Amino acid sequence: MPRPIEALIHVDALAHNLARARRAAPDARVWAVVKARAYGHGLERAYAGLRGADGFALLDLAEAEQLRRLGWRGPILLLEGCFEPRDLEVCSRLDLWHVVHCDAQIDWLAAHKTERAQRVFLKMNSGMNRLGFAPAAFRSAWARLSALPQVEEVALMTHFSDADGGRGIAHQVAVFEAATRDLPGERSLANSAATLRHAADAGVAADWVRAGIMVYGSAPDFPAHDIAHWGLRPTMTLRTRLIATQQLEAGDSVGYGSSFVAGAPMRIGIAAAGYADGYPRHAGSGTPVLVDGGRSVTVGRVSMDMIAVDLSALPGSGLGSEVTLWGEGPQGGRLPIDEVAHAAGTIGYELMCALAPRVPVRAVGGDGDADG
Ligand SMILES: *Cc1c(COP(=O)(O)O)cnc(C)c1O
Repeated sequence: MPRPIEALIHVDALAHNLARARRAAPDARVWAVVKARAYGHGLERAYAGLRGADGFALLDLAEAEQLRRLGWRGPILLLEGCFEPRDLEVCSRLDLWHVVHCDAQIDWLAAHKTERAQRVFLKMNSGMNRLGFAPAAFRSAWARLSALPQVEEVALMTHFSDADGGRGIAHQVAVFEAATRDLPGERSLANSAATLRHAADAGVAADWVRAGIMVYGSAPDFPAHDIAHWGLRPTMTLRTRLIATQQLEAGDSVGYGSSFVAGAPMRIGIAAAGYADGYPRHAGSGTPVLVDGGRSVTVGRVSMDMIAVDLSALPGSGLGSEVTLWGEGPQGGRLPIDEVAHAAGTIGYELMCALAPRVPVRAVGGDGDADG
């Protein structure tokens, strides 16, 4: 028998969360962001749930090619644009839209020989200071790009640094509006956090929203809000089983470094999941977990292949019991990935992207459950 750990991808939950993005921005088109192998879900499995999107946004040309092979004929946007001139040939061949964020990318376009003019998203650095033209340089970049015969249409975009937090987006929206007011073209500003929290603000949802983390069932602003608040469902379950139990006496310790010491007699279970599966090593004692669908917590340090869980309040659980590390448990129990991420000092994004290759993944809840 293989090791009992597995990940499930809930195809129907992906579709549900995509519909939630549409409800949040009813007049916008929705890019489903599927970079990083669809946030660790696997591009093919994610596509099964997200094919109702208006377009797919990603980074890797190889992933764009895979989407075309899966049969997607609609828009695909490269969020970092081209990395070298010959990427433009791939854009022409696969009909990819691409972000232009720096002068070199305009130079490459100007030198590119193509029969088919391309769609580009010109990116402004409105305060994130990662990618994009400064507001003062934006207009001349737009003019240069618009004059190129290689370019069919120029859309305008920017990205928010604080859509999930207290600083908010108003300062960046103001910079973007001031520099683009009289420019034609479609707009794209909002990520998941802006779509959920700020879509009602003027101009924020137009014309395309870029929904990433929300379609994967994680709240962008946890712990201020959780997925239940936003009406989202988990799309990834990581589950395993107990492969041993131990009876501890007061003073007994658990695991490497003896970081957990029992204060009283207690029973613990050993679950077959560790940091080599993508479970975060920084999740200390007390990280939430479901055992047979009931809530419990981890005790001691996370090992490479095992974690210990408290069974004190779960007398019916033991060897073979199902342990849900995050996602949907048995009997309707649910453990949002955000709670585990928070306990480990990180965010849901990192945990789903870090699911390890050794964990078998299965898509469920679609038209015909499939391995993949
Ligand atoms: C990743 C990414 C998104 C999606 O962000 P979420 O917070 O996951 O919704 C949107 N826009 C750009 C440019 C991105 O790189």
